[in-house]
Amino acid sequence: MARRRISILGATGSIGQNTIDLIKRDLPAYEVIALTGAGNIAQLAADARVLNAQVAVTADESRLDDLRDALAGSGIAAAAGQAALSEAAARPADWVMSAIVGAAGLAPGIVALQQGATLALANKESLVCAGSLILETARQHNARLLPVDSEHSAIFQALVGEDMAAVERIVITASGGAFRDWPLDDLPNATLAQASSHPNWDMGQRITIDSASMFNKALEVIETREYFGVSPDKIEVLVHPESMIHALVGFHDGALMAHVGPPDMRHAIGYALHWPERRVLPVERLDLAAIGSLTFRAPDMARWPALRLAREVMARGGLAGAVFNAAKETALDGFIAGNLAFTAMAEIVEEVLTQMDASGGHIDASMTLDNVAAADHLARMAARDIIEKRAG
Ligand code: NAD
Ligand code: MG
Repeated sequence: MARRRISILGATGSIGQNTIDLIKRDLPAYEVIALTGAGNIAQLAADARVLNAQVAVTADESRLDDLRDALAGSGIAAAAGQAALSEAAARPADWVMSAIVGAAGLAPGIVALQQGATLALANKESLVCAGSLILETARQHNARLLPVDSEHSAIFQALVGEDMAAVERIVITASGGAFRDWPLDDLPNATLAQASSHPNWDMGQRITIDSASMFNKALEVIETREYFGVSPDKIEVLVHPESMIHALVGFHDGALMAHVGPPDMRHAIGYALHWPERRVLPVERLDLAAIGSLTFRAPDMARWPALRLAREVMARGGLAGAVFNAAKETALDGFIAGNLAFTAMAEIVEEVLTQMDASGGHIDASMTLDNVAAADHLARMAARDIIEKRAG
């Protein structure tokens, strides 16, 4: 049987490494085309050698020589920079994992869809920034888009064989992150180390901090709206500290179909890898009797203003998602660099949204890759400006 051609964008990250873990267990079944990374050259080169990839690409142009050195004698091509990332995504493949973090994942994902590959989408930012563009590109090129985010994989699985017209609501769960039980008054003093530790999931640093602020859940609400085409009033967020139920779909006969599983991304990645089949996966089997109880609570809107902002972004429409995400990424950079308090991130994002809503056409421009990039760029500038003014 022909080997399946696969590429992994963002191979050195948390999702990328989990994907490689699954691929390595059945290496003869795959022909690895491209692996991409950024700063972690040693990891990128080591994986490219083990998987015998055709090409390894770093987003960081200044590291090209390091990558060449690390791949010397392997016969694996080395490349660097944005154009090389897109060239890698354009190489014919059957399945491409989109696991770059942030809006940087959008353009390579579009290119992968344009060559007709199935795109396993971990990069939720693509849907938040340019949902209709992604879906339209997939449609035009007859390419399939499969969700990898655990909640969205759970929804997707709960919907197998169902009629969307019978869906009354979609509930996505949230652990509540690092500060779920903190006194509200302490939140402004939360440190980077505290925000970077997740109670249940082991993920990249940025999404872990976004879980503490609920910006991750805010992005996921928008991702749900875009991917499943449901109206915002049908999407609910439920705090579920144990992270065992990932999402529930409610139907108009009153049934709620829940997806239950351990917090291990290899489930969602493996489901997207083998879809429409279910294959054996190396994830823990839950012993519910030992777990004993699962708990739930309504989200505290004062603690997590990001959830309100997501609603406003959906109501605004247009390119508001791209502005929201770019402002969030910039505020997160500010928090990581120690220039912003934890609670200031949401304030910055809200200010940028207000400013760009008032300042004319960008949010209402048509959804093209160029316009999304322009809105993203302006939102980052506006956010940096506000952060600088606050510091000065
Ligand atoms: P990560 O930070 O661990 O890895 C990010 C990857 O992107 C790395 O390979 C890095 O080299 C690459 N990268 C970083 N900046 C880049 C740039 N400017 N250009 C090109 N490549 C760049 O992130 P992660 O936690 O694996 O998350 C990846 C994506 O998956 C994110 O969109 C995240 O929201 C989503 N996601 C992650 C998890 C998880 O469990 N980690 C769960 C659900 C969704
Ligand atoms: Mg998720």
